[in-house]
Amino acid sequence: MSDLTLKLDGLRKGYNHGKPNEVQVLRGVSLQVAKGEVVALVAPSGAGKSTLLHIAGLLDTPDEGTVAIGGEDMTALGDRKRTSVRRNDVGFIYQFHHLLPEFSALENIVLPQLANGIPQAEAEAHAMDLLTRVGVDGRADHRPAAMSGGEQQRVAFCRSLANKPRLLLADEPTGNLDPGTSDRVFDALMELVRSSGLSALIATHNLELAARMDRTVKLEAGLIA
Ligand code: ADP
Ligand code: MG
Repeated sequence: MSDLTLKLDGLRKGYNHGKPNEVQVLRGVSLQVAKGEVVALVAPSGAGKSTLLHIAGLLDTPDEGTVAIGGEDMTALGDRKRTSVRRNDVGFIYQFHHLLPEFSALENIVLPQLANGIPQAEAEAHAMDLLTRVGVDGRADHRPAAMSGGEQQRVAFCRSLANKPRLLLADEPTGNLDPGTSDRVFDALMELVRSSGLSALIATHNLELAARMDRTVKLEAGLIA
């Protein structure tokens, strides 16, 4: 196993908006996240943070360049293996929680584990442990609509860790919350990440949040500045 959890090399990605001169969003992005390291990805809106995270999380493919997770080149893998890595090794957090509305907080964290063959009792115990660690265990049987924005997002953090990934990718994870709530919810996320020894790449345009991570990388004009 490599001591680099994530290694991106020479990533290029463009979008063709039906015109010959397509938009080049990533122009040769290379970056690394070491085991246990938490890296802030900072750039203004529209700079390509989401594009980069989707490629790193195997939700999208680059036009050029490679993505290695745990020392293994993912670019060369077939769909089935990519899906398995995405499900088992990578946790993804979006700006909006995307919890399933018909299920409780606990169930939202249990379901991905059941899909991975974990027995019900074990999945529930793990889900409860995660909810306790972010201080939302008191809302375990609430549906998302019966929780505050900050609580919903904490549950989404727990869900992203349900299958014990080694890499966490977060796309402006507190971007939807008011500043006071954002601060506390971000604390909960950092606590969860640190206590799990996870590697993480967290996109934000908030420099105060970035300063609380181990290192900041800036995305500028499609390159790491
Ligand atoms: P950020 O997350 O930093 O706000 P994005 O990665 O979402 O930036 O977008 C970067 C640029 O790529 C934007 O100009 C956006 O319009 C464009 N873009 C993103 N996704 C697509 C897509 N699926 N099709 C066309 N253009 C896209
Ligand atoms: Mg974005």
